[in-house]
Amino acid sequence: MYLTLSTRHSPATDLGYLLRKNPQRPQSFPLTFGRAHVFYPEADEHRCTVALLVEIDPVGLVRTRRGPSGEGGLLDQYVNDRPYAASSFLSVALAEVFGTALSGSDSKDRPGLMAQALPFEVVVPALPCRGGEPILRQLFEPLGYQVTCQRLPLDAQFPEWGESSLFRVTLSTTVPLPLLLSHLYVLLPVLDNDKHYWVGDDEVAKLLRHGEGWLANHPARELIARRYLKHRRSLFAEALAQLIQDDGEDPNTEAETQAAEEATVERALSLHEQRLETVLTHLKAHGAKSVLDLGCGEGRLLRRLLQDRQFERILGLDVSHQALEAAAERLHLDRLPEAKRQRIQLLHGSLMYRDERLSGFEAAAVVEVIEHLDPPRLAAFERVLFEAARPALVVLTTPNREYNATWESLPAGQFRHRDHRFEWTRAEFEQWCATIAARFRYAVQRHPVGPEDPLLGAPTQLAVFTLLDSQQVTLHPASPE
Ligand code: SAH
Repeated sequence: MYLTLSTRHSPATDLGYLLRKNPQRPQSFPLTFGRAHVFYPEADEHRCTVALLVEIDPVGLVRTRRGPSGEGGLLDQYVNDRPYAASSFLSVALAEVFGTALSGSDSKDRPGLMAQALPFEVVVPALPCRGGEPILRQLFEPLGYQVTCQRLPLDAQFPEWGESSLFRVTLSTTVPLPLLLSHLYVLLPVLDNDKHYWVGDDEVAKLLRHGEGWLANHPARELIARRYLKHRRSLFAEALAQLIQDDGEDPNTEAETQAAEEATVERALSLHEQRLETVLTHLKAHGAKSVLDLGCGEGRLLRRLLQDRQFERILGLDVSHQALEAAAERLHLDRLPEAKRQRIQLLHGSLMYRDERLSGFEAAAVVEVIEHLDPPRLAAFERVLFEAARPALVVLTTPNREYNATWESLPAGQFRHRDHRFEWTRAEFEQWCATIAARFRYAVQRHPVGPEDPLLGAPTQLAVFTLLDSQQVTLHPASPE
């Protein structure tokens, strides 16, 4: 089974940078169910096409019991169309091989291009479409795709045998590459509707994550969720509840959908990337070897930390179980070599409470977290971090509210994210930093992050706190609460 992805963006060979796959060099990757091959049938300035070819090992699948079992009998398990028909396997391969692009992580060689809408054409020569052409259109057209498809005969030499359930499908659109890949990742198995072997509880998290920003508003979201989750009612109900933003029920879920909104507002700048790189630069510059990532979310900073051997001990903490699951997946925790696995730990917990396990780290990163805390609780957090955990270095970021006025997509007076409890002006942040520094005996320096507006400043404000002396501070009364 295979698909091709082409672009006429100029220069078209930029596709290689976005996918992190060199057009000059065919590559192969082992998968649990076979092998994936990536190569470029054409690559020049005007048009570049990458092909993802997935070889399935149907016998291996049966032997290792990874494949679907039961229905159809033994013969059916060995003799089937899996090697040819695009299916959930293609989707898994896509995530494995183009994972960096799927996650939206910017390309160093082509900064900003990942977030840019580019003209793409995807061809899947043999796509099983249960429900036929209407379903195909129902899934892709609301997302802005032009769909052409042609039903394939069962065997071209024997037209009297009739049609197969397979289609040759061409999808054209102009979107950022990560969005295109997330559409394919979710919708290919939905079309196939065969038994994928991987449906487990974490599929809900995967569906929501890859559907971020588009699934909740898709007119066929129920069908998509039901089929993606293979009609497993309990999972389906869970996903649906989250998609319809069951307000107030589950803060974790809210955080997920709202993160998508925040991402849209900030996408133009790829601000988050810039923020993480800046935080990393400060951590590196101070020579920190052990780092806390407090409110680590889906692990975007953790991944960078893990890639750098300077960081020998890394701990990510978050209150959202779902975010941690996504982080574990992003980091491939279950597949890391032992030495690397030893360097990182994920912890489910809240920044509101003292936790012994946060002590003994040289540095802490707190990226876009404090604005999610209720102001009265901020005081508890301050003590948990600056008094109890007390790392020598704290790198913290938060939005600059003044900058919001420059965003056309953000209605005046609104925060960037519905879960933000506050957003500070530069003066407010400066005041807070000074109070913290004096109270807990840290030095502090503030830096703008992102493009600076002459009047309104930069979109993100960053503070670097460095411990002045390592004595314990005991404060009383406890906090202004
Ligand atoms: N630092 C990450 C995530 C920022 S979003 C990044 O930059 O990508 C804010 C994160 O803070 C969310 O993952 C949310 O679950 C977490 N969070 C909010 N309140 C928290 C609390 N009380 N304790 C720990 N984490 C919290």
